Amino acid sequence: MRNTVPRSLFAAAAALCLIAQCAAARQRGDERNTLKSYYTAEYLAFKKRIIGEFAQAGAGRFSEFVKRAKKNRNKAGDKEQKVLALTFDACGGRHSGYNKKLIDYLRRERIPATLFVTGLWIEKNRETFAELAKDPLFEIENHGLLHRLCSTEGKTKYGVRATRDIGDVVDEMELGARKIDELTGRRPVFFRSATAYTDELSLRVAERLGMEVVSYDILSGDAMRASAKKMSRNILDGARHGAVVIMHFNHPGWPGLEALELSVPELKRRGYHFIKLEDFSVR
Ligand SMILES: [Zn+2]
Repeated sequence: MRNTVPRSLFAAAAALCLIAQCAAARQRGDERNTLKSYYTAEYLAFKKRIIGEFAQAGAGRFSEFVKRAKKNRNKAGDKEQKVLALTFDACGGRHSGYNKKLIDYLRRERIPATLFVTGLWIEKNRETFAELAKDPLFEIENHGLLHRLCSTEGKTKYGVRATRDIGDVVDEMELGARKIDELTGRRPVFFRSATAYTDELSLRVAERLGMEVVSYDILSGDAMRASAKKMSRNILDGARHGAVVIMHFNHPGWPGLEALELSVPELKRRGYHFIKLEDFSVR
C-alpha cells in the first residue's frame, strides 16, 4: 500500500511526459508537412544557393540587436517631428487570436502601425489578414513562416522552438516573405524573429534576402502579462524620437487597448507622431 501512491504518481508523471513528447513530435510532423507544401523545385534550388553562400560563416553573437536597429533608424525621419513606431506581432500556432478592439482603436484614432505576422497566423485568420493588408494605415511585415526563433545553430530563448540551421532560417524568412507577397502583392522589407532574438549570421541571411531584422526599443511588457498601467508606464518611460514599441495583437485577452488608451494621449501631448517602420528610412 505504501508504494501505491508514489508508483501511481510516477505513472502519472510518465504519462504526462509521454503526452508532451507526443505533442512535440506531432508539431514537428505538422511543420514538416507544412514546409513540404512550400518546397517547389525553384525554391529548393534558391535555398541551396543561399546555404552555400553562408556555409563557411560563423553564427556570431546571439542577441536582440536593439542597437543595430536604432542606429539605422536614427539616420532617417523628420528631424522636426518626434516620431514613434508602434509595432504589433501576431505569433500564431496556439496563439492565433485577434485583438479586434485594439485594431479598431488604431483605426478610430488614425494611428499608423506595423504588423508582424507569421504564416501560421495568416492561415488561421485569412479574412482578417486580407482586410488588414488592404488598409493603408497598416504595414504588414514578416514574423516568420512558422514562428521559429531564427538561430543558425539551434539556440533558443524562453523555450520557444528554434531553427536548427541556415536552411531552417531561410525557410522562416523567405517562405514567410513569399506568403505575404503572394497574398498582398507587397514583399515585406522587415523581419522580426520569434522572441526578437536571433544571431548575427541570421542578420546577414535576412539582408541577403532583402529584409532588415528589427527587434524593438521599448518592451511594452504584454508578453510578460503586464497590466495596462504597467505597459503604459513602460511606453511613456521609454519614449524618445525614433523608438520602436513592441506589442502583440494576437491575444484578445491582453490589455493592449487599455495600455494605448492610457499612453497615446500623453504621447501626443509630448509632441509624438506615430509612423510605420517603412516611413522611418529614406533608403
Ligand atoms: Zn511572436
